[in-house]
Amino acid sequence: MLKNKKGLVFGIANNHSIAWGISKEIAKNNAEIAICYQNEILLKRVKPLSEQINSDILIECDFNNSDSINNTVNIIKKKWGTIDFIVHAVAFADKTELNGRYIDTSKENFINCLNISCFSLTSLAKSFEPIMNQGGSILTLSFYGSNKVIPNYNLMGVAKAALETSVKYLSVDLGQKNIRVNAISAGPMRTIAGAAINNAREVFKFTEKNSALNRNAQLDEIGKSALYLISDMSSAVTGEVHYVDCGYNIIGMPRDL
Ligand code: NAD
Repeated sequence: MLKNKKGLVFGIANNHSIAWGISKEIAKNNAEIAICYQNEILLKRVKPLSEQINSDILIECDFNNSDSINNTVNIIKKKWGTIDFIVHAVAFADKTELNGRYIDTSKENFINCLNISCFSLTSLAKSFEPIMNQGGSILTLSFYGSNKVIPNYNLMGVAKAALETSVKYLSVDLGQKNIRVNAISAGPMRTIAGAAINNAREVFKFTEKNSALNRNAQLDEIGKSALYLISDMSSAVTGEVHYVDCGYNIIGMPRDL
């Protein structure tokens, strides 16, 4: 499904990362992938994973560093010239504030969280626009805490709301060039970022019990839905937030309280 398509994946930290689940699935479908990892510390885990999917472009890209994205564009321009897709599976918030009351969020954490978790998508879209092919696809990851209050999700919910709205605005801006922008709103997953939310285990158990399918989504299922959104199979789909959460988001009231 992705033969002759080349693109970048941001957000692999280890083999539990959603970005890894997506990479495996799209690599299986012949996509050529450049992996952008946050820092040297993660490279130890990312390098062996890159070998599993025959990805030989590994680029350090920390969104805290203002030159990182331009540097990545320059490397990719030289290696490939153009690209077909971007997967943005990155989020960050101070862990101490993913706990307790949202009202206690600090200004510094607010700005940093929105910058890394939300503005980075807009920044990537703008920087890669000149080298993105017609029919290109940009995909980001969100969570239901953008719409409804989930205990301890706090500032990250606000960042995801801004991210989902960015998806809509970006999809119109880039729609002129036939580049699509979508988000997957994934159910809770056992990842490093997922574990940063206080009582993540409770959220996991609650959604498992109360989702329409009575379970949580698996990594490969997020990967398969991402494959659809990245590929031409979804050529008329843009500006969407697509739930891959075993139907948890449609529940108004749990069956057993
Ligand atoms: P993860 O910890 O595996 O991935 C998060 C990634 O963000 C890491 O690779 C990390 O290096 C990267 N990152 C953080 N700060 C960065 C920075 N300054 N520059 C560059 N990269 C940076 O966790 P994950 O759960 O796979 O998270 C991926 C995405 O999926 C996130 O947007 C997350 O909010 C979203 N998501 C997660 C869940 C869940 O329950 N785990 C559910 C829905 C959506």
